[in-house]
Amino acid sequence: MSAGESAESSANPPVRRLSAWDADELARLAAEHETPLYVMDLGRVRENCRRLRDAFPDADVRYAAKAHTGRAVLETVHGEGLGIECASAGEVERAFAAGASGEDVQYTAVNPPDRDLDVVVERWHDAPDLTVTVGARDTIDRLRDRGFDGRLCVRVNPGVGAGHHEKVTTGGHAKFGVPYADAESVVRDARDDFDVVGIHAHAGSGISGDDLSAHREVVRRMGDLARALSDLRLEFVDVGGGFGVPYREDEPPLDLGTVAEATRDALGDVDAQLAIEPGRYVVADAGVLLTTVNTVKESDEYETVVGIDAGMTTLLRPAMYDAYHAIRNLSVNDDETEIDVTVAGPICETSDVLCEHRPLARPSRGDVLAVGNAGAYGYEMASTYNSRPRPAEVVLEPAPRLARRRETLAALTELER
Ligand SMILES: *Cc1c(COP(=O)(O)O)cnc(C)c1O
Repeated sequence: MSAGESAESSANPPVRRLSAWDADELARLAAEHETPLYVMDLGRVRENCRRLRDAFPDADVRYAAKAHTGRAVLETVHGEGLGIECASAGEVERAFAAGASGEDVQYTAVNPPDRDLDVVVERWHDAPDLTVTVGARDTIDRLRDRGFDGRLCVRVNPGVGAGHHEKVTTGGHAKFGVPYADAESVVRDARDDFDVVGIHAHAGSGISGDDLSAHREVVRRMGDLARALSDLRLEFVDVGGGFGVPYREDEPPLDLGTVAEATRDALGDVDAQLAIEPGRYVVADAGVLLTTVNTVKESDEYETVVGIDAGMTTLLRPAMYDAYHAIRNLSVNDDETEIDVTVAGPICETSDVLCEHRPLARPSRGDVLAVGNAGAYGYEMASTYNSRPRPAEVVLEPAPRLARRRETLAALTELER
């Protein structure tokens, strides 16, 4: 038991492992709704929101919606009092559809298409409390051109990145935010035409207990900037998301208390509210992906290859980030002998492999496997590549309910003219 897993938190543990899910219930859901199937436990989403709010009692906690934009999830998160950080006009629309009001919505514009700015500015007329975060002077000009003079936040490139993979490191990448050295002047110039309410930085995904140094450095720089701007009386300093989750079963969970303390220390005295934007942390361990074994191929030359009906189009993270996801065979007893397997999907791509050389309770055709920590960037990154319809999704409220039906083959050609 790590520091984060104290006994008093057992009602709301810092992580839900794949082994803690009810295998019989998951198998029943797979039988009823077929696979591949995502299952999201809204109760666990709620617990994750509460742990964040408890660890950061004075902060404004905003859920980064791109981790999972399903309506049931957004409604749950909104019901827990979190704001919603949106990466596109589509996410802004989803946030409002889920019951959010303008003050709950932060739209973070990254090289925003005209269409997105048009939609958001239109929304702003009815919801003048929404906030737009900009990362370039160009975006500020384009908002001004559209008559927007509302709440503006400036995204700063802190020059420091953090992440579990280079593809999720944003902080040091020139794509994101105005350069740190220009930030003060961008903020001051914007005051003539906008209500500048905050500054923002997001270093990337993967704040881990072992290494808080990058996070500390980002927050320290944001504190310095906030103090340099103290005459403006900014409302908030948003230090982004990136709170890591333990994908491996033996990895300890993040100790939020430690992260919160490090954040406070690094920020120092500022006369503005702290804001954070966790995405993954809110939903990752609230979701599993269920998939059925359709092929078992044994050979003397290679390890056993287990073919499943979910692929990189269902869960992209292993192919895109070399991500590790725990896998459990729900159809056998836990004492079944484990064999060395490679689990691969139905997509004609070499990278369509969920895991390689993994010990797994001996699978047979028809067995249902559960893939853990699939709630964040899972369904959200699903595609129809190989003309494979997107999966269905069930939410537990706690009674199961079909939240998104399986995409049909007919839907794949619906847009064609
Ligand atoms: C993706 C993103 C987040 C959330 O990142 P997580 O790793 O899911 O916590 C927060 N803020 C911004 C601006 C993002 O782009």
